[in-house]
Amino acid sequence: MTGHVMMVGAGLSGAVIGRMLAEAGWQVSVVDARPHIGGNCHTERDAETGVMVHVYGPHIFHTDDAEVWDYVNRHTTFMPYKNRVKTTSRGQVFSLPVNLHTINQFYGKTMRPDEARLFIDEQADTTITEPQTFEEQALRFVGRDLYEAFFKGYTQKQWGMAPTELPASILKRLPVRFNYDDNYFFHTYQGMPEHGYTPMIESILDHENITVTLNTRFDRAEAAGYDHVFWSGPLDGWFDYELGRLGYRTLDFERFTYTGDWQGCAVMNYGEVDVPFTRITEHKHFAPWETHSGSVLYREFSRACGPEDIPYYPIRQVNEVALLREYVRRAEAEDGVTFVGRLGTYRYLDMDVTIREALDTGRRFLAARETGHAMPAFAINPL
Ligand SMILES: Cc1cc2nc3c(=O)[nH]c(=O)nc-3n(C[C@H](O)[C@H](O)[C@H](O)COP(=O)(O)OP(=O)(O)OC[C@H]3O[C@@H](n4cnc5c(N)ncnc54)[C@H](O)[C@@H]3O)c2cc1C
Repeated sequence: MTGHVMMVGAGLSGAVIGRMLAEAGWQVSVVDARPHIGGNCHTERDAETGVMVHVYGPHIFHTDDAEVWDYVNRHTTFMPYKNRVKTTSRGQVFSLPVNLHTINQFYGKTMRPDEARLFIDEQADTTITEPQTFEEQALRFVGRDLYEAFFKGYTQKQWGMAPTELPASILKRLPVRFNYDDNYFFHTYQGMPEHGYTPMIESILDHENITVTLNTRFDRAEAAGYDHVFWSGPLDGWFDYELGRLGYRTLDFERFTYTGDWQGCAVMNYGEVDVPFTRITEHKHFAPWETHSGSVLYREFSRACGPEDIPYYPIRQVNEVALLREYVRRAEAEDGVTFVGRLGTYRYLDMDVTIREALDTGRRFLAARETGHAMPAFAINPL
């Protein structure tokens, strides 16, 4: 059995589910309010410098999921890429994540791994037995010096809240490595699409049963015209925010250009509170196989998300989760719509997780139609 489905959003969620259903014989309409496909993964060449720019912030692909890795490699060529981040703090440049190099440089020592482990144990505040806040957790793990240099300011700027107000759960594990590994991610597969993410998503959407319409905002009143709707827009947006808005952080990007190499790496964090931005990204370093004499950079500022801003990071503090619960209850009472992706389920999702969930959601829909079962409002529980 087939029919006509609507994918609201031409990001990874809409594209991957849409492709699976199109291959199974469904007619798939994809709409996006933006003038381009790709959602927040959208990339485009900077007109002035020719550099490939990650328009909504830097995106590095990393996964342990072999099916997802095969999937993306069917739609584009991935180039090897390791994310190596630096941070400027107290007038020096350090390596991140905090590793043996960072520790030795910070304390002016030449410790070996076991020595450094003992040393950090001595710095840790062992009087904190049951950490409740981010600050307590960090102090218990690494002590005040490293906490203040590398965690406090950045966290405060990113979340707009003192680390004493954030839950300890944000920092689950010891955020320090006792070797010189400065690869940000541990995943088996890592890379960067050779021509950016948008051509990859264009290839996913390239199927005779898929039609894409841009610059078009979908409203739930239009849902009746389709056999099913997959909504990758904001969950509260489906309900016209009638219970209030789920809290997000948004980002402002301040662009500047340079002739040559401005900072020598893709990402430079700024951990101190008196520097108003969190980091500077130099986009040509995300494509080290390309050569550009010009360079384009973005200073990234984090702030509370207003009604007209782009929602980036869900806050998910106690109040937001309570409101989320209310919206989930309403969503579950709806018929013919499934809420998907980072906005539809109000969660931070890496790209590989987004694709994994989209593949699972598409399969679940096809199985449900095959067996005559109803498709639920959430294929993945957002709570
Ligand atoms: C700053 C930042 C950096 C990130 N970096 C990484 C990274 O390094 N590695 C990684 O793996 N992941 C990263 N991610 C996560 C990645 O962006 C997401 O996994 C991915 O974008 C989720 O895709 P999606 O389709 O669910 O949502 P989106 O990409 O947000 O797509 C949703 C689309 O729906 C459209 N839409 C919404 N409402 C409507 C409507 N009513 N009508 C029509 N269209 C609508 C929107 O315009 C949007 O295009 C990052 C995220 C952020 C915020």
